[in-house]
Amino acid sequence: MTTAKAIRFARTGGPEVLEYVDVEVGDPGPGEARVRNHAIGVNFIDTYFRSGLYPLDLPNGLGQEAAGVVEAVGEGVTHVRPGDRVAYAARPNGAYSQLRVMPADILVHLPDAISFETGAAMILQGLTVQYLLKQTYAVQPGETILFHAAAGGVGLIACQWARALGVNLIGTVGSNEKAALAKQRGAAHVINYRDEDVVQRVLEITNGEKVPVVYDSVGKDMFTRSLDCLRPRGLMVSFGNSSGPVPPFSLNELSARGSLYITRPTLQAYAATRAQREAMAADLFDVVASGKVSIDIHQRFPLADAAQAHIALEGRRTTGKTILLP
Ligand code: NDP
Repeated sequence: MTTAKAIRFARTGGPEVLEYVDVEVGDPGPGEARVRNHAIGVNFIDTYFRSGLYPLDLPNGLGQEAAGVVEAVGEGVTHVRPGDRVAYAARPNGAYSQLRVMPADILVHLPDAISFETGAAMILQGLTVQYLLKQTYAVQPGETILFHAAAGGVGLIACQWARALGVNLIGTVGSNEKAALAKQRGAAHVINYRDEDVVQRVLEITNGEKVPVVYDSVGKDMFTRSLDCLRPRGLMVSFGNSSGPVPPFSLNELSARGSLYITRPTLQAYAATRAQREAMAADLFDVVASGKVSIDIHQRFPLADAAQAHIALEGRRTTGKTILLP
């Protein structure tokens, strides 16, 4: 047994429920690996588990994303070995830790050219953008799409990857500073939704045609406006709840706007098998290695200050990626 520091929580609530504690870490069992995390990614989903929006047995650890080094593997584990550099973006929660024992299957090799910080910053949000732009709806060169929260962690990767694919991304943001950042990272148009009418601006930008797909992670506050931006038979991709979950709605909302489609995708479902994770990660590593997508780490906190990271993220005070350093 080794003692290591980790974030645990025994009750749901605000950031104050996060505790920085000592945990005992043992040897990996069959199918498991012990990984020393060198950098840890903070994601909005972590706040959903902390607040109780997504249920979890308590007490529990938190965090689904990190990069580090394999220290030991259990019986039957062959695809990673002690000393390998790895990254991961999956449940179970527990990435907010210096050292952990976890299912080995979810580990992907991190190329030598990618630092631990960059690996931890990009794997969950990068795989998300991979499936959103290439699988949920396969964007085509020349298309104009709408992507909310464009200056966030997922958003800045999406701006750049869309540009690399020849797609005109209309990004929405909540401040002028965020607008400048999204534009700099490749958004063809940016709407600051505090000052501008999103639906009206989308109509203007698209000459009245609207868009074939909306990527909406804002949830409750944006849902109806997102539907209003879709052309007939367009696809609503509702992939997050940053402002709260989307309330129940009538299917007539879809028929009234011209036979819309809607999906509520999760990374878990798209990266369900090792083969899927490895193929998606290879695509992500390629686009980052090509220089077409760079990873913006704009906030770094010590692991002990995870609560401060949550306050900043939920307070809309972050841009790009937030990481924790163990
Ligand atoms: P972000 O860095 O994008 O932070 C969230 C942003 O949402 C804020 O910065 C803010 O930007 C915007 N926002 C709008 N309304 C609110 C509100 N009421 N409270 C807080 N923020 C608000 O976070 P992530 O990149 O980690 O995640 C983005 C979204 O994508 C999240 O909803 C997350 O759950 C979802 N996600 C879903 C995945 C999936 O597979 N389904 C996987 C990964 C992420 P602004 O100030 O510009 O409005």
